[in-house]
Amino acid sequence: MLRLPRFEYRAPLELGEAAALLAEHGPAAAVVAGGTDLFPNMKRRQQEPQLVIGLRGIAALRAIEPTAEGMRIGATASLHQVANHPLIARRYPALAAAAGLVSTPHLRRMGTVGGNLCLDTRCTYYDQTYHWRKSIDFCKKKDGDICWVAPGSPRCWAVSSSDTAPVAVALRAQLHLTSARGERRVEAGAFFRDDGILYLNRRPDEILTHVELPPLDGWRMTYEKLRRRGSFDFPILGVAAAAKLDADGLVEDVRLVLGAVGSAPVDQSALAQPLVGHKPSREAIDDVAAAAYKGARPLDNTDLHYAWRKKMARVYVARALDTVCMVHRESA
Ligand SMILES: Cc1cc2nc3c(=O)[nH]c(=O)nc-3n(C[C@H](O)[C@H](O)[C@H](O)COP(=O)(O)OP(=O)(O)OC[C@H]3O[C@@H](n4cnc5c(N)ncnc54)[C@H](O)[C@@H]3O)c2cc1C
Ligand code: SF4
Repeated sequence: MLRLPRFEYRAPLELGEAAALLAEHGPAAAVVAGGTDLFPNMKRRQQEPQLVIGLRGIAALRAIEPTAEGMRIGATASLHQVANHPLIARRYPALAAAAGLVSTPHLRRMGTVGGNLCLDTRCTYYDQTYHWRKSIDFCKKKDGDICWVAPGSPRCWAVSSSDTAPVAVALRAQLHLTSARGERRVEAGAFFRDDGILYLNRRPDEILTHVELPPLDGWRMTYEKLRRRGSFDFPILGVAAAAKLDADGLVEDVRLVLGAVGSAPVDQSALAQPLVGHKPSREAIDDVAAAAYKGARPLDNTDLHYAWRKKMARVYVARALDTVCMVHRESA
C-alpha cells in the first residue's frame, strides 16, 4: 500500500490566512482542494510539500454565481456542481460537459474546478511509484536529469491532461489569482505554459480564487473527449470547439483548442479561420481537421499509441466542428 509522507496540515477559513501561509512557507507549501491529484502524487513522492493548506473551508472560494455578463465559478466548486448547475449547463454546456466527463462520480464530487485547471501534467515515466521511478534513475520532472521520452531534449514533455483546461481557453475565461502581494487576472490561454515542469503561469504563493466566464453571445460550443475507457480515464485527446454563425448561417467567428496533445492546451483557432465568412461545409471542415491533424504532435508518453492518437485528432476535430457549425453528415 502506498502511504502519504508526513506533512503538516492547516485548514484556514479565510483566504487572507491561506495566502499568508503560502507567502511564509513558499514552495515548501502546497494548497489542496479535493486532493484527488495532490494526494496520489504525494503518495508517489512526485510532490513533497511539508505544509498542505486545505482550501475547502474557505466559503468565499466555493460560490457559483451569475454576473451581469457571464458567470463566476469559485475555484473549490466541485466538478459535480459545475457539471450539474442548471445555469452553467444552459450558458456554458461545453464546460458542464467537460466537468461531467472527468474521472468518476466519486472523484467529481471531491475534485474541484480549480484543482482541475491546476492539475499536474502527466507522463508514463512520471506517474509511477517512487520505486518504479527510482529503478529508471528518475527523470527531469522530479529527482532526475534525463527525459525518457526525448532523451536529447532540454525540456519536459509531460502532458496537460485536464478536461476543463481546453474549454477554459476556448471560452477566453479569466482566471483570478490572489497572494499576500495582491490580486491579478490571467486569461486562460496565458495561464497554461508549454512546459511539462513549469506548466502554469502561477507563482507558488498564488491561489486561484475563481474563474470568470465572459458571455457566450450566440456562440455554440462543444467538448469532445477521447480516452481508453468511457467510465473514468484521463483524456488522451480533448477538443473544445466554438462557432458563431450569423442569421444567414455564415461563420462569423470560430475557435478550436486541443487538450492532451502537449504540455498546455493548444489553441488552433487560427487553423479554423478559413471557415469564417462562409457557410460551413463538410469539405471546409475536413480541410481544417486535416490542418489540425498536422499540427497535433502527441508523444509516446501517455495511453494508447501516439500515431493513432494523432489520427484521432482529425476525426475528433471534424466531429466537434460539425456540431458547432451544425453540419450533418450522412452516416456511412
Ligand atoms: C483515477 C483518476 C482519474 C482521473 N481522471 C481525470 C480525468 O478524466 N480528467 C481530468 O481532468 N482529471 C482527472 N483526474 C484528476 C483529478 O481528479 C481532477 O483533475 C480533479 O479536478 C483535481 O481537482 P482537485 O480539487 O482534487 O485537485 P487537488 O488534488 O486538490 O489539486 C491539484 C493541484 O492543483 C493545485 N490547486 C488546487 N486548487 C488550487 C487553487 N485554488 N489554487 C492554486 N492551486 C490549486 C494543488 O496544489 C495541486 O497541485 C483523475 C484522477 C484520478 C485519481
Ligand atoms: S516528458 Fe520526460 S522529463 Fe517529462 S515527465 Fe516524461 S520522462 Fe520525465
